[in-house]
Amino acid sequence: MATALVHYTAAAASDRGLRRASNEDAFGISVEHGVFLVCDGMGGAAAGEIASALAVDEMLRMLTSRAEAAPMVQAAQEAILIANEAIFSLSQRDQNLRGMGTTLVGLLVEERHVLALNVGDSRCYLMRNGKLLQVTEDHSFVDEQVRLGHMTREQALRSNFRSVITRALGTQSQVQPDMFQLEAEPGDLFLLCSDGLTRELTDSAIESLLGVDLPLEGLCASLVSAANQAGGHDNITCVLARAEL
Ligand code: CA
Repeated sequence: MATALVHYTAAAASDRGLRRASNEDAFGISVEHGVFLVCDGMGGAAAGEIASALAVDEMLRMLTSRAEAAPMVQAAQEAILIANEAIFSLSQRDQNLRGMGTTLVGLLVEERHVLALNVGDSRCYLMRNGKLLQVTEDHSFVDEQVRLGHMTREQALRSNFRSVITRALGTQSQVQPDMFQLEAEPGDLFLLCSDGLTRELTDSAIESLLGVDLPLEGLCASLVSAANQAGGHDNITCVLARAEL
């Protein structure tokens, strides 16, 4: 029996927050090519902004020009390799950009076939039937300690090391992303976000906000405004993509 095709609608918002002088997050969307990206840059001066913008540009360029027949995982791996190389080589050429890098969380979709990928602590969540599930696992020191049973979730949230990430794009000549393959169902809502959202809001707060019947733009705006009300300590970026019949 043939399964009905799904298509995707999307919206995004990115906000400097209340405490940071600039916004080092970046996002990219191509609904036509089924590509959704969020990057959270790091590095001195303007380097973080350069790293996240370069990552989004390179990933979009690679993924929107990929051969139709190219398997998604392979296309994603190639794009990540190229983006990593672009950031790393620029940082090697320019003293002011030395050490810059960025997180990356991405979603590639072809009909119901969904590939989520990440490097660092920007996250992908799936809201399905009113329940929020975290798809990706953070590459962060505290998250690894929690997974090893050395730290509780509550201790992780309060730890002084909570911003230490264990993998980043562009800081080294090689990078290993995680990839997660899923089958989308009509009504599924995917959220990609930087840690400026997840540091301020618990998963259950995000779940309640996403449970409200609003257009995607309105949901993005309410996530950003809730994170700012909770302190807005960091840049806040979210991309929403919904599978629809
Ligand atoms: Ca951040």
